[in-house]
Amino acid sequence: MKWIIKELNNLKKNNLFRRFRIIESACSSTVKYNNKTCLMLASNNYFGLNTHPKVISAVQKTVAKYGSGNVASRLIVNLDLHNKLEKELAHYKQCESAIVYSSGYAANVGVISCVVGKGDLILSDSINHASIIDGCRLSKADVLVYRHCDVNDLSNKLKENRSKYKKILIVTDSVFSMDGDIAPLNQIIELKKKFNLILMVDDAHATGIIDTNFEGIDIHMGTLSKALASQGGYVAGSKPLIDFLRNKSRPVIYSTGLSPADTAAAITSLKIIKRNKKLKTKLLENADYLRKGLKRMGFKVGNSELQIIPLMIGSNNKTMKFQRLLEKEGIFVTGIRPPTVPVRTARLRVVVIATHTRKELDKALRSFNKIGTQLNIIPHDQK
Ligand SMILES: *Cc1c(COP(=O)(O)O)cnc(C)c1O
Repeated sequence: MKWIIKELNNLKKNNLFRRFRIIESACSSTVKYNNKTCLMLASNNYFGLNTHPKVISAVQKTVAKYGSGNVASRLIVNLDLHNKLEKELAHYKQCESAIVYSSGYAANVGVISCVVGKGDLILSDSINHASIIDGCRLSKADVLVYRHCDVNDLSNKLKENRSKYKKILIVTDSVFSMDGDIAPLNQIIELKKKFNLILMVDDAHATGIIDTNFEGIDIHMGTLSKALASQGGYVAGSKPLIDFLRNKSRPVIYSTGLSPADTAAAITSLKIIKRNKKLKTKLLENADYLRKGLKRMGFKVGNSELQIIPLMIGSNNKTMKFQRLLEKEGIFVTGIRPPTVPVRTARLRVVVIATHTRKELDKALRSFNKIGTQLNIIPHDQK
């Protein structure tokens, strides 16, 4: 097993070694870390529902009634709660039907490997999430990667390949997880219709935040573990599609069903999101405020439009140094390095949530400015 030590040393040498940091509290707009309260700018708890009293109380009541685990796959133990959640999700996505998986990762892997196979073609955006990539690999279909959000490149690849394949799947994130930019869905849908393809959209970071209920998307995938502050993934679509997944998708058949607590949390969060439109407004206002402030200081934030704001740095070393210096200031942010992002594009992934206050965001901006100038990432003379 010497090769493991060698590989680990290699990672350390290249500033790519990963460690878990230890948090000693619930993750809300703040967390307890290193014995102090830190401002949390790294989670996907977009609406702060992770600690919402209604969500917590629903989970407590549900566990008292249904117990802790689902203790078997859905084909054996299928709770009324599961059906309720799936009905709510289908309604929310304006689809006929929906099915939940034990994670968003399992959903992507489970659906892609189920709807295409050997002899089919997948066209995949170059920075799609790792779970999409793994689903593509598992499917054994041919995969062509098109340039990020580049509809011309996608169109050219389709023209070249349409006649060679019977079944073609286009798959894209709607909001990209490490960049916060948005896929050109309207244009992709036009291509989809023109070339008669299957279109799948991963809404992990869009669920509850932007509306992607477009006609023309065949497979709506999303996660319960981000804005919905639970755990699990979902796929929504036509009734035949969902019946097919229930019969054929391996993570549905060979993995334990969603726990009662997770199911209840997702149902409650979905209800809150549907009723309380202010959460979304607050989230987007916070995102705009922080992004504008960071841009003004001279930070490069790519094409971020929503709650995910990448501070582009490049060097792995500098990125992790920035992360450590922010920790000292009481700010919890995560440095993102390859292979999660392309080589030489290491960055801090800054994420705001709806419950952050202006005062907290101002404190964060002061720290970003201080450390950004100290590390020569932004010019000294700008504010
Ligand atoms: C987080 C994420 C997933 C995986 O979802 P989990 O529920 O965390 O497994 C899938 N796709 C994208 C784009 C994601 O960001």
